[in-house]
Amino acid sequence: MTDGTPKARPTSNQAVIIAVGTELLFGTTVNTNAAEISKMLHEIGIGVLAHHTVGDNPKRLKRTLDIAFEQADLVLVTGGLGPTQDDLTKEVIAEHFALELEHDEEAQRRLTTFFESIGCPDFTENNLKQTYLPHGCIPFYNNAGTAPGFALHDPQSDKLIIALPGPPREMRRMMDDSVLPYLTGRSRYTIYSETLSYFGIGESNLETILLPIIDGQTDPTVATYAKEGECKVRITSMREDADAAKAAVREMVERAEGLVAAYREAE
Ligand code: AMP
Ligand code: MG
Repeated sequence: MTDGTPKARPTSNQAVIIAVGTELLFGTTVNTNAAEISKMLHEIGIGVLAHHTVGDNPKRLKRTLDIAFEQADLVLVTGGLGPTQDDLTKEVIAEHFALELEHDEEAQRRLTTFFESIGCPDFTENNLKQTYLPHGCIPFYNNAGTAPGFALHDPQSDKLIIALPGPPREMRRMMDDSVLPYLTGRSRYTIYSETLSYFGIGESNLETILLPIIDGQTDPTVATYAKEGECKVRITSMREDADAAKAAVREMVERAEGLVAAYREAE
């Protein structure tokens, strides 16, 4: 059994991910970002309802944003934040929320420092595009590249959008440094989870054994998933009170262990 770690829970526990980039549709680049972001969100208790992939096309991105916000209040977008003409994510998001793009001093300072540090003479004008962010957003400065990301919350609709750069290294770093702390920090809820490991029982078998606690579950949730040679059961509770979350998980862990022990005895 792994030890459970309490974590804060974001306001919205369901999200949609949009990956932007024509190369993803061509198949020349595999959309690894969506998979990685999903896993990271799952770790903090956010379920992902859909992945969308869209080319570098403002009209289609706008339509995809509309669809995504019909599906969830939290949308994460990756790609299209760079300096070139086809990078249109910020522009489309700003338009969606009827906001202007504004010059960001800190983004400018970081961009200048970056180009100085690499002694790079090819600072072209289009790089300045990366110093503009939607009015009222929370900037997430890029610790692994130049294009900043951001979180933008619309208080009227309570919709939240998070924009991340496309390069996987930059996306990962921004998720770790900024996005995950931001999402968990927004919440007054706590997640507590524990994972049980079983060997010699297949996933479908384990699910059948645990059916009495899986069926009709709300909180704690009980999820089985197969790993190489072993099967895991993750039991998770989200509550305002951290002690209550832990107590609920502990009780469910005991019930799960009791069901598996009874099955093994009967074998
Ligand atoms: P962008 O931020 O759209 O300029 O993306 C820069 C580069 O990051 C692309 O050329 C791809 O190589 C890579 N990239 C963008 N989106 C993804 C993604 N969803 N998954 C994996 N790699 C990506
Ligand atoms: Mg791109």
